[in-house]
Amino acid sequence: MDESRSFSGNAAGKSDLSTCDFSFDGPIGSQGAVIEKVGKNHFHIKLGHAPGNPGWCNMLYFRIMRNARGNSPRIDVSFQGGDDMRFNHNSATWSYDCRNWHAIDWVNPDEPGKQGDSLLFPGFREDAVWFGAQVPMSHQDVEAMMKRWGQHPHARINVIGKSLGGRNLYRLEVTDPNSGIPPAKRWVHRFANEHPGEHNSQWRMAGMVDWLLSDNGTECRRKNICHFIIMMSPDGPGNGWYRVNAEGFDMNRTYLVDGSGSGQQAHEAFIVQKDMESLMASETPVTTSWSMHTWGGPVEPIFLPGPEFGTKLGSFEEFKNIVADNDPGGLIKPLAVRKNPIKLSVMWSSGVYTQFGITTVLCEGAGRWTSKQKSLDAGMILMKSIAGFYQ
Ligand SMILES: [Zn+2]
Repeated sequence: MDESRSFSGNAAGKSDLSTCDFSFDGPIGSQGAVIEKVGKNHFHIKLGHAPGNPGWCNMLYFRIMRNARGNSPRIDVSFQGGDDMRFNHNSATWSYDCRNWHAIDWVNPDEPGKQGDSLLFPGFREDAVWFGAQVPMSHQDVEAMMKRWGQHPHARINVIGKSLGGRNLYRLEVTDPNSGIPPAKRWVHRFANEHPGEHNSQWRMAGMVDWLLSDNGTECRRKNICHFIIMMSPDGPGNGWYRVNAEGFDMNRTYLVDGSGSGQQAHEAFIVQKDMESLMASETPVTTSWSMHTWGGPVEPIFLPGPEFGTKLGSFEEFKNIVADNDPGGLIKPLAVRKNPIKLSVMWSSGVYTQFGITTVLCEGAGRWTSKQKSLDAGMILMKSIAGFYQ
């Protein structure tokens, strides 16, 4: 009876999934997640919480290591700690190869996570399956891209430090070292992702780099220097941390406007802010600093404009029009200037402005997108527009 039951109910004639087929460790994972079997191909996962923040759930990422083919599991998910940073507020995707991702909807995405939610998967055609929040990017993905980008003669990979988990913190620098324009006369842009679970903003940056290193970016590389920190909290994706580092700091509440201080801010934030300060003290200080995040709706850049607008360059309105012209598909909301006064200078999206007075951008949106290509395209459009304005 048991045997015939375990070999029925799926097209491939293989056995049903069991809890030991699931893994929450690896390049994308979910620290503290526990799985139990409810019924045939029906499971319940209880999520763990972020370090130091019992009310913040870790995002769900898992891998079915074997045996998925022919099965269409139902997975119920819950979190006991509260509904802040709920696990189902962003898009979700699954993949056979951790590269090409397919959309899947949460059943009740607008309900607070404490009430639980479910995923109803289609019948799988392969044995190994990955699942993640937004379109996942692991730190291994970052390393692979750095290797690829680093082969370009105009790209330089700087390892500015290591995370508490021992992972490299990268700053990719792109410029044409042999352009006739002296470095000090170039525009300098810096882009960084603070919240490790906001992957669609990381793919946005990957799209920017791809465009910049293509033939289309030749002129831009002559006149500009661009710095990219794809992941400021590289220990996040392997643990399912949405906002934090290993110390539990919300990584976008880690800026010190009076200057970086070892032991006074999150470990990785100290390394990145110190690096930023060294750029500011160099002969090529940063002109624009972008904080890359996600929330609902299209990509949404909100500016604290610096001194270059209307003096050395055109008006903000002109920049806005360039983006609109490059974006016929409406992937990016019209550029906006921030109207509210700065309340929280500990945020990178305002602290940089407070400390240095340079153009500082909070770039949100795209949190519910399930297409990696869309984020790459939005990044390409942003980079092309920056190239068009910062001549
Ligand atoms: Zn964020």
